[in-house]
Amino acid sequence: MYKATLIPGDGIGPEVIRAATEVIEAAGVKISWEEKLIGQSAMAKYNNPLPEDTVSSIETNRIALKGPSTTEIAKGFRSANISLRQRLNLYANIRPIKTIEGVNTKYKDIDLVIFRENTEDLYMGIEHMVGKDAAESIKLITRDASERIASMAFNYALREKRRKVTCGHKANVMKLSDGLFLSSVRSIASKYPDIEYQEMIIENLFMKMVMNPEEFDVIVLPNLYGDLLSEMCAGLVGGLGLVPGVNIGVEAAVFEPTHGTAPDLAGKGIANPTAAILCGVMLLNHIGEKEAADRIYNSVKRVIREGKYVTRDLGGSYSTMDMTKAVIDNL
Ligand code: ATP
Repeated sequence: MYKATLIPGDGIGPEVIRAATEVIEAAGVKISWEEKLIGQSAMAKYNNPLPEDTVSSIETNRIALKGPSTTEIAKGFRSANISLRQRLNLYANIRPIKTIEGVNTKYKDIDLVIFRENTEDLYMGIEHMVGKDAAESIKLITRDASERIASMAFNYALREKRRKVTCGHKANVMKLSDGLFLSSVRSIASKYPDIEYQEMIIENLFMKMVMNPEEFDVIVLPNLYGDLLSEMCAGLVGGLGLVPGVNIGVEAAVFEPTHGTAPDLAGKGIANPTAAILCGVMLLNHIGEKEAADRIYNSVKRVIREGKYVTRDLGGSYSTMDMTKAVIDNL
């Protein structure tokens, strides 16, 4: 029996996370889930968006499955997600973006993985007003953090027999900060002569991604560009309801869908559970339950390919739980 932390989150979080745990259970992997709160639900109960109890549960279990959590725009408490990543030093955000047959998109054969630095850049939240009419945000980039995300990306490429790593940057303008990120990635790349290495100015990378996404393989990016590109890439393969992700460091791994709380869908039972279920697949691979992970992945692919028991975003009319049941029946 494994032990892991379960954070249902806010909005559609509890609905899709439940789908994922039901599928894992049906696949025969026994996990004892320790349920904890974060974000809005934690604020409501403890007046604290990131309770200590939640952090220490993840520190102990070292694995968590997490739903999205609410962060207010331009006001309110600091993003609990960002605080969690910094507290647990979850320095990499990894998002596999892969075409799923049967999803109605313009693109075919996309199979790439984004490695986004997760702890610094403009997302450190170091900002202040300069007088009444100006605001300043600090973009912090360090060699250590840049080298460790690059090492993770190159190690992954080597292990998974990927052919190419692309580094995105804007070092032509931000010569010091992005320049340091670029030179750090370059120094790691030089240790992997068998993997093709490519550098691209970020807007060019976005354009090429829209034109020929199938040409990309592993991509390594600083925090802000990584956030933007991974959401755009989710759109290329059919939307946010399909793409899983993990925030990972040395001590812990928090598996979490790319999508947010989707307030427009919350409570209606119609959100696509795929992203959450595929987070479950990543979690199972992480703990060595590869056979169960493959069975779930194949079942999800089959349900989507057949296109019958799917949610509205995939052109169907079925509920989150109907689609989940179809995945379970196909296991
Ligand atoms: P948040 O503020 O938490 O980021 P949001 O609505 O701004 O919430 P998302 O939750 O990422 O951002 O959702 C953007 C849109 O994508 C939603 O309005 C919703 O229609 C769609 N969406 C997101 N997740 C799913 C899902 N699992 N299934 C179907 N549609 C989804």
